Amino acid sequence: MKLRKSAAAAATVAVLALAATACGGDSGNAGDKPAGGAGGKDQPKLPTYTVASGVKLDSATLKRAQKAGKIVIGAKNDQPYLGFQDTDGKRSGFDIEIAKMVAADLGFKPSQIEFKTIDSNVRETTISKGEVDLYVGTYTINDERKKQVGFAGPYFMAGADLLVRGDEKGITGPDSVKGKTVCSIKGSTPLQEIKKSKYGAKTVELSKYSECVQQLLNNEVDAVTTDDAILKGYAAQRPGKLKVVGKPFTEEPYGVGMNKDDKVLREAVSKAIEAHEKNGDYKKAYDATLGLSKSAYTAPPALERY
Ligand code: GLU
Repeated sequence: MKLRKSAAAAATVAVLALAATACGGDSGNAGDKPAGGAGGKDQPKLPTYTVASGVKLDSATLKRAQKAGKIVIGAKNDQPYLGFQDTDGKRSGFDIEIAKMVAADLGFKPSQIEFKTIDSNVRETTISKGEVDLYVGTYTINDERKKQVGFAGPYFMAGADLLVRGDEKGITGPDSVKGKTVCSIKGSTPLQEIKKSKYGAKTVELSKYSECVQQLLNNEVDAVTTDDAILKGYAAQRPGKLKVVGKPFTEEPYGVGMNKDDKVLREAVSKAIEAHEKNGDYKKAYDATLGLSKSAYTAPPALERY
């Protein structure tokens, strides 16, 4: 069976990567499974979400999803503790929990969610073409993007930071990347920021953060820039080998992306986020995901209705 074979091959790669780490090598797969996954012994437990029934909204997106019997949600697959997919296909992370709690309030069980991996550079086109109903993947709300997509939220506040090798001494913040090679990904706000001439950095632009992290581990670039929440996940996987500088230099409020004109859905998603913040699910989900990468918990930002 083809599928099984490739899963076995992937498992072998993962084992090899682990072995390399255990030997203290610099190699390893930047997309390895997050350490200490939620639900293990003594680990914080993930919440379960009550699925609403009989949801009726004047939302074209929701009606389409109800007719299909499933909701299609775009997500990341290589961000440990945020949006991650195992070699066995299982998704985990804070964004995945946000997706599940919102889907539950819209009337969809976890088994009725079809996650699709969508990287940053194709988010707006994928959402506006209707290829996903919602998008939950470290997606910064900003005016430029609002011209193409709608946002509910923010549900989390991140900030661009720098990931460097554990022995790095020269890069201590955005003011010390002059002449250094910094990797980030196409279609992301931290890439736009670091390209500003005031920083004087050389940039390498790839499609996936895990590829940037791999280049950092291979000494091909000097730093990776993106949101601190994402970088802390990678650093937590490679203690000693990778570290986050810890000087955020932008504000990245995360929103749930959707069709620009579906105001009814936008309000319903905002309400869902609000309800799960109030009933404690949000904090519980945080503790069992992002909290494991040593991102300190802060209360979620105020929702922005527009
Ligand atoms: N939050 C930033 C953005 O939306 C960076 C993370 C990402 O690429 O998803 O561009």
